[in-house]
Amino acid sequence: MADGLEGQGPAVATLVTLVRPARRIVAFTGAGISTESGIPDYRGPGGVWERNAPPTLSDFRDNPETRRQYWRDRRRNYPTLRDTQPNAGHVALARLQRAGLLRSVITQNIDGLHQKSGIAGDTTFELHGTAHVVRCLDCRATWPAEQIQAKLETEPLPICEVCGGPLRAATVLFGESMPETPLRRAIAAANACDLMLVVGSSLVVQPAARIPEIAVASGARLAIVNHDPTPLDDLADVIVRGSAGQVLTELADALLGDDQAAGSG
Ligand code: NAD
Ligand code: ZN
Repeated sequence: MADGLEGQGPAVATLVTLVRPARRIVAFTGAGISTESGIPDYRGPGGVWERNAPPTLSDFRDNPETRRQYWRDRRRNYPTLRDTQPNAGHVALARLQRAGLLRSVITQNIDGLHQKSGIAGDTTFELHGTAHVVRCLDCRATWPAEQIQAKLETEPLPICEVCGGPLRAATVLFGESMPETPLRRAIAAANACDLMLVVGSSLVVQPAARIPEIAVASGARLAIVNHDPTPLDDLADVIVRGSAGQVLTELADALLGDDQAAGSG
């Protein structure tokens, strides 16, 4: 039975007790770690899902109007995402990594905020791709998002300059499988960790949500920091129902000491 359901203060203390002896910590993050940066999560009120359900892959491929609308939206919205800054939660994880406590971050997010906060790129496994790269659906050629963004002025429906195929952000749509390399590395990390720290994920998007189960099956402890209940709560050793930014900052302060205050370590 998980400890620490009653209140955030005691729950954070329990979290610190659980994390302190761990030597191979891996974080698993979802949209909830980025809400404090101003990016809505998926299922919360006003979330992406409510406002603008993403197209399916076949809809995107088959329907030029879907693609036109996609690029109209992206032309308007991408600059905001590009300029969004990491918040206290991302920064706390980066502090834990700099101190040698956190091995890697497996994320469902496409916003690139873990890398922006200082998590090493080769230890960030993006299960659902990234919004900062644009890819051809046919030949898989890729470009930095900024480069395509600059062309939208004159080419509102951009196509691949190699093969003429349709372009979209290198993110995973419904009906698409997860990118192979990040998935393989994430599974290896889950198998090798001794503690998995889940932050801001409803743990309902499959198959990504299987990753914490893999960690537990291979003997790791499980901590969940999330506002709402998740289907894996029964597997957790500790659950903290607090805000990611505050809880992770308290955790990093407790483990690293206040002399390494956020951003200065
Ligand atoms: P989700 O939206 O399904 O769940 C987010 C969870 O985070 C909720 O349970 C919510 O209670 C919790 N939460 C929200 N703000 C929080 C905070 N400040 N502190 C603690 N908990 C908080 O997210 P998911 O599980 O990642 O699944 C969403 C899917 O949508 C993913 O596949 C992801 O790729 C995509 N997505 C990504 C982003 C992003 O990149 N930032 C944003 C929206 C959706
Ligand atoms: Zn192409």
